[in-house]
Amino acid sequence: MPSDSPLLTIGVPKETSGQERRVAIVPADVRALKKAGFEVLVEASAGLRAGFSDAQYLQQGARIASGRVELAAADVIVHVRAGGADPGAPFAVGESLRENQILIALCDPLSDPRPVAALAERRVTTFALELLPRITRAQSMDVLSSMATVAGYKAVLLAAEASPRMFPMMMTAAGTLTPAKVFVIGAGVAGLQAISTARRLGAIVYAYDVRPAAREQIQSVGGKPVDFGLESAEGQGGYARAMDQDFYKRQQAAMAKVVGESDVVITTAAVPGKRAPVLITTDMLTGMAPGSVVVDLAAERGGNCEATRPGETVEIDGVTVLGPVNLPSTVAHHASQMFSRNITAFLVLLKKHGLPALDMQDEIVRDTLITRDGQVVNPQIRDRLAAPVS
Ligand code: NAD
Repeated sequence: MPSDSPLLTIGVPKETSGQERRVAIVPADVRALKKAGFEVLVEASAGLRAGFSDAQYLQQGARIASGRVELAAADVIVHVRAGGADPGAPFAVGESLRENQILIALCDPLSDPRPVAALAERRVTTFALELLPRITRAQSMDVLSSMATVAGYKAVLLAAEASPRMFPMMMTAAGTLTPAKVFVIGAGVAGLQAISTARRLGAIVYAYDVRPAAREQIQSVGGKPVDFGLESAEGQGGYARAMDQDFYKRQQAAMAKVVGESDVVITTAAVPGKRAPVLITTDMLTGMAPGSVVVDLAAERGGNCEATRPGETVEIDGVTVLGPVNLPSTVAHHASQMFSRNITAFLVLLKKHGLPALDMQDEIVRDTLITRDGQVVNPQIRDRLAAPVS
């Protein structure tokens, strides 16, 4: 893509978070970035844990940096997880960046805004990919959707692994095996992917979402929508809105029967910027048959199931509750491929606008930019920083 702006170097570090296997840019996207006017500098072995060798990056025209010092010269640093999205070391990336360097990453700025303030203090220009507007033009950059797709798929595999049952119906000489009954709560991107993956494995899949529009989407991927007669909780931008405790109590009561009849429950319910709602109480678990499995994809956001412990598996009366964290990292190759394609589209857009100049008329730029010139520029994050610490 022709551009009048200067040649910029993109630095691709090895992720700092210990368990993280993904890499922000994969070799297949290096050529597109070079065509857009970027140089790509990759830290040695940055892609290894996702299945991409240094030789593959070199073949596509990237350079390999021997270490962090060389990488630090890059104009733009692209990370998978930085700031609040790197729970092990939320301030680490910021400390290695310098004034006017550009950071593009998942930063989870609404959960914990303090690492964002530290980035602003260092005068880093930061883009948080979570804040991309869900508009058609930004679909190719939508990292959250990509990662939710991977998580929804993997959740079903974890459920199948933990379940003492097979998913498909089988007619064998040893008798007929009935198909597993799977109930998916929350039919956003992850939930819809979980429905179609469980269907592909042969399960009967029921699903529910508080947004009425989800009904048709559930059907389109082979699920059976369940109607509990509850009011819609559709909020702004096609997301769910937070409801009061009375609503969640009524929802729990309405869902108890379907949960009790399910072999597997996969929960994905989330409300942007809020703690995930508790939808399955410990009481409801005791109504499930022994051997049943709950996979709580909201574990990192506080959990949809009362018994969930993030990163752990707990057993309550023979029911296994899994609280997996960072599932996309466990499917690192394809998760990186999707992440990289998304971030490449974002970088190409920025370059088209004349990066390092920023076009604040473009809502994709405006919404994702969180720090610039020593300031936290996102009003929601500023409000969070100003709020008293609870
Ligand atoms: P999310 O991760 O914020 O939430 C997951 C799902 O949980 C949502 O479908 C939500 O409605 C549901 N939920 C919340 N509270 C619930 C409750 N109490 N009970 C049951 N379900 C509950 O959502 P997401 O996957 O990021 O998607 C949110 C919306 O954005 C969807 O409508 C999706 O189709 C849409 N979307 C649009 C685009 C685009 O146009 N570019 C891209 C991605 C997603």
